[in-house]
Amino acid sequence: MTAPRTPTTAEELRGAGLRVTAARVALLETVRAGDHLDVEALASGVRDRVGHVSLQAVYEALHALTAAGLVRRIEPAGSPARFEGRVGDNHHHVVCRSCGVVADIDCAVGEAPCLSASNDHGFSIDEAEVIYWGLCPACSTARSS
Ligand SMILES: [Zn+2]
Ligand SMILES: [Zn+2]
Repeated sequence: MTAPRTPTTAEELRGAGLRVTAARVALLETVRAGDHLDVEALASGVRDRVGHVSLQAVYEALHALTAAGLVRRIEPAGSPARFEGRVGDNHHHVVCRSCGVVADIDCAVGEAPCLSASNDHGFSIDEAEVIYWGLCPACSTARSS
């Protein structure tokens, strides 16, 4: 009896119906190792792993990974899009108004959508995306001193 093996990143890409390229593997690994990174930060992470990859190629790969559900894109107002590997759990985010740092906030009730709309307009709602805004600990300390 063998224990179930965790699939490699390449197998996950294949399993999601994506063509496996070194850049895509590096990108998915960079997204997962990072914390809500933006495209620029992801591009430099990918280049550290596999050498030169154009920004355009990074955008295309991100689009494919996001469409395949392997990566989640969040786009807080006034901030560049950010990407994360924590997908499918309907968690929310808190964004610092001052420095833009992002942190995860677990779903309020643990299942999607975690908020009931006061009026659903007849829609069958399956997701609620909430962004909390405020000041991170470092910025509130800086402000009060
Ligand atoms: Zn801050
Ligand atoms: Zn997140």
